[in-house]
Amino acid sequence: MTQVFKFGGASIQDAEAIRHLGELLARFPERPLVVVVSAMGKTTNALEALLAAARGSDDADYRERLAALRRDHLATVEALFGEEAEPVARRIKALIDELDRRHRAHAHRERPFHYDQTVCFGELLSTTIVAAWLEEAGLASEWRDARELIVTDGDHQAANVDWAATAERVRGLDFDDGRLRVTQGFIGATPEGTATTLGREGSDYSAAILAHCLDAEAVTIWKDVPGLFNADPRRVDNAVQLERISYDEAIALAWHGATVIHPKTLAPLQQRAIPLTVRSFQDLEAPGSTIAEDARRDGEVPAVMFCEDQTLLEIRPRDFAFMDEARQHDILGRLVAAGLHAGLIDAGAMRLSLCLDSHPARLEPFVQSLSVDYAVTRRDGLTLVNVRHGDDALLRALGEGRECLAERRNADTAQRLYPAGQCPATWHLPD
Ligand code: ASP
Ligand code: MG
Repeated sequence: MTQVFKFGGASIQDAEAIRHLGELLARFPERPLVVVVSAMGKTTNALEALLAAARGSDDADYRERLAALRRDHLATVEALFGEEAEPVARRIKALIDELDRRHRAHAHRERPFHYDQTVCFGELLSTTIVAAWLEEAGLASEWRDARELIVTDGDHQAANVDWAATAERVRGLDFDDGRLRVTQGFIGATPEGTATTLGREGSDYSAAILAHCLDAEAVTIWKDVPGLFNADPRRVDNAVQLERISYDEAIALAWHGATVIHPKTLAPLQQRAIPLTVRSFQDLEAPGSTIAEDARRDGEVPAVMFCEDQTLLEIRPRDFAFMDEARQHDILGRLVAAGLHAGLIDAGAMRLSLCLDSHPARLEPFVQSLSVDYAVTRRDGLTLVNVRHGDDALLRALGEGRECLAERRNADTAQRLYPAGQCPATWHLPD
């Protein structure tokens, strides 16, 4: 049964990391295996900066950034292949020339289109090096162009997958030669072959799309962390790893502010009951965290998410009327139109409270529009604490000595909103 592995930028950031990737893959001889790879290190950011320079008509800055990109990738090739670097170096140079050519050809086009024609090169470069290195390391590999596999619409920078067309292309992959396949995350193409991208951090999603279409046995996302945690370990000193959670629980954690796997990535896997494991590429003995159908271990340990920089709006009818369903409908309609997300919604007889991410460009027009028809008060800089499966002792400890501005609780989730400065930077959960 097919396996899909995904490696992010950190796992291939330099020659040493790519060598390590080869050693890691040598431990997994089962085939078919599809390896989905991001751009090296922070290359996507570098390409975004290059694009900004180009669109800002700073040609010198653009050329400098292009030269740096070329230098960095060639240095990795040199470090990996030494005397034998020439054939791979030639392919890298050709890709950089192609990037330059496409950038110039499309510079007059709208930004999202131009973005996709240039930024997709991060993954084209990284996979060219990785596939060549795996061959060199004795792992028979074939480089595949994701633009020929993942078919999307033309919604550039946030392309939507054409599932039927993608499934047809992906199922046409022939794995009989026993070689592993290396392909790019993050990128696809329209049916006509114009490059598109799936949104930042889209490589996880690419792995899920391919796994879904191949009806794969499992997906593994190799990361620089040992797995998923019940709280951000940088913030909570006794955070523990979640060994096994269900898709629904993972989606709930993400909704409430955990930086786990994006629900968009989980949906195609959940549909086919394909488990996803997050594992450390540094510590191969560590078991990782698995997201699958089985919900039996959900809630074994409580999870705590801190959402910073929240704004609380208290919205009241001006005429001392009830905050009835018609008014709630009106307010939530405006919220949707503004493209905002409310992490906490609480309705009272004469009040609707919304806790929102402080996203100035969207928040200010929303507040202004509401203020025309309602009495609106606001508080900024708040911390929303979301707890899944917390018991009374945990909730008491989180609330101790703190003024709570808003609160909601149901069977498995508790939410509390605290003023600025009342939540410590680091936390210890009660045992
Ligand atoms: N390289 C892309 C990014 O940095 C996609 C990914 O890494 O998932 O957003
Ligand atoms: Mg990345």
